[in-house]
Amino acid sequence: MIKNSFSRGIGLGRSVQQNNNMTTIIFKEWKFIADKVTTQEAYANMSMGRPDSCGCNLCKNFVNNRDNTYPNEIKILLNDLGVDFRKESEICHFYKQDNGLHLYSGWFHFKGRFEGKNCTVPSGVNGITFDLTPVSEHFSIGFRYDNDLSFFEDKENLVQIEFNASIPWTIDLALEWV
Ligand SMILES: [Zn+2]
Repeated sequence: MIKNSFSRGIGLGRSVQQNNNMTTIIFKEWKFIADKVTTQEAYANMSMGRPDSCGCNLCKNFVNNRDNTYPNEIKILLNDLGVDFRKESEICHFYKQDNGLHLYSGWFHFKGRFEGKNCTVPSGVNGITFDLTPVSEHFSIGFRYDNDLSFFEDKENLVQIEFNASIPWTIDLALEWV
């Protein structure tokens, strides 16, 4: 029966299974094996995400758009992994695009591992860049192993969820970065 529901889940592009305190999630081309409980605890112990604690105008604009920034399937995935989507480890603003939207990047962490495409691409001598996968017109995502600015106490075995998002400027226009 479990196998049946699992197979059906794959057909829908998403499935969630619980086994030995680890949650296995199939999402698009990836398989995640997540310690959801430990991840949920880490997020619960964090009072707010980095853009909220920063409070600069670029972060304020991101926070103001947050509920619309993450596609629903990403909100569901993050929740399945134990991640609170309102508590990013960090975000960065790049620039205002020709279409008027602002390009941001950001990342989260969860405890566990994954199978499937790693978004890390070597660049230059010691650098890296990310090859993210589009989820919608304005949002792309990727996964790799790192612990940049993680608020997990134990920084071992963390997956870093990288995203890019194009979002409008919806706070005071006089504050817009141009
Ligand atoms: Zn900021």
